[in-house]
Amino acid sequence: MALAVLAKLMPWLTAQRTLKEILRAINAALGARLAWVIVEQDGVAQIASAGKATCTLSAAQRFIEHLPMHRQQRAWRVICWRRNVGNLLFPAHANRANKLQSGILCKLHLQQANLSGYFFLAFAEPLTSLTVMKNIVVILVEKLKDYLAEIIIKDRTAKELQRIITQYRALFDRAPVLMTSFDKSNRCVLWNGECERLFGWTLEELNQQPDPLALFYPDPGVRQRVRASVNLSATVDMHEWHPIRRDGQPLTVLWSNILLPDNSILSIGMDITERKKAEQQLTMKATIDELTGCYNRSALLRQLKEALKLCLPNDTRSHFSLLMLDLDHFKSINDRWGHQTGDAALVHFCEQVREVSEPAYVFGRLGGEEFLILMPRTRRRTALRFSHKLRAALLQTPLCRDDEKITLTFSAGLVFVNGEGQDSSVLLTLADNALYEAKRNGRSKTVVASAFS
Ligand code: GH3
Ligand code: MG
Ligand code: MG
Repeated sequence: MALAVLAKLMPWLTAQRTLKEILRAINAALGARLAWVIVEQDGVAQIASAGKATCTLSAAQRFIEHLPMHRQQRAWRVICWRRNVGNLLFPAHANRANKLQSGILCKLHLQQANLSGYFFLAFAEPLTSLTVMKNIVVILVEKLKDYLAEIIIKDRTAKELQRIITQYRALFDRAPVLMTSFDKSNRCVLWNGECERLFGWTLEELNQQPDPLALFYPDPGVRQRVRASVNLSATVDMHEWHPIRRDGQPLTVLWSNILLPDNSILSIGMDITERKKAEQQLTMKATIDELTGCYNRSALLRQLKEALKLCLPNDTRSHFSLLMLDLDHFKSINDRWGHQTGDAALVHFCEQVREVSEPAYVFGRLGGEEFLILMPRTRRRTALRFSHKLRAALLQTPLCRDDEKITLTFSAGLVFVNGEGQDSSVLLTLADNALYEAKRNGRSKTVVASAFS
């Protein structure tokens, strides 16, 4: 009979139940009036109690401390009371005490978890088969130990999992990497701390928009391409995009898309706006003359070579004019007004060139006070007219210094390039020769190079 009860009870004692539920089941199966378990771990004691009578932790602890075996520090495992156990447990409450007669107390010890405790079971009447019940309790306590070990492992695993989640969350929020994900209906489902910091929008704010992506890519065409790239190309290759921030600032971001096991796509991004700016500044430095802001010598020569490569005798649209200019008596400006005014004169000259130039003209400084203008699809006569126009502009708009007007003049050599085998150094020599001729002939004039005129 007792074994049958135990056999029914055992499968029920699993870590899916709470301790209270288990104690209730034990009471019901064995017909007990009160069951409790005290567990003490790391100096903290807890009680779980169930039954028609209830027992507090302090009552249970007082009960154990007053046991003669306990007081005398004698070794024991199980103690049984045939009757009147209620008087020991509730000495001050006669009516509660009367309702408990037989009782069994069993020690509970779990070495590996550093856990100790007691299991107690009490009955309303004196039991005739107390020894059988004692054996059942011993078996139950073994089962309870397994249960507690399982609970502790579960608890530890949950804590470990929580720790990992916290760690990932911290990584997700603090990593200097952009992480985001959009679902199939274009709602943002993932938006980490770095995204919020960089773009200035919170996840809630994004999802209040009819189309969150429009905040970053106002152009519908670009948005379409972004969407296609996110949905179709799950790839670790990084692609450059130019989203805008909440304050309207354009950014340069490298994005790559990772396909997750649940088929959603995680986009990982890196903000390279500053790096890009630095690169652009370096490129600028390598191609732009710092003082005047026009192309420098190497950029000019590069463009001249490019134009030459495309220049074919039969294709008049590829022909161009090349104008080499040198400021007249520039040294005397420096000598009279100082180097700073000389610099201002160079800047002033460039401003005037820009004023009268066509947008397609490529204009730069070869060095010192010498400049070059490449005029695509421009015939000799038009180029000549341009040089006269520039001369007139300089005459009309002199540089003002201390109430004095400094009128700049220049001499120039003009070459028309029609793709008949000229290379860049030959062209430059031709232009230079023509320029020299202009100097010799009194300056402030333009001479057309003879070889190709
Ligand atoms: P020419 O009419 O024969 O060209 O006479 P020039 O005085 O213009 O020519 P020269 O070659 O004798 O002198 C050029 C001067 O340009 C000398 C140099 O100090 C000055 N120069 C070159 N680069 C700069 C610059 O960046 N800033 C200033 N202020 N002067 C410069
Ligand atoms: Mg000069
Ligand atoms: Mg010179």
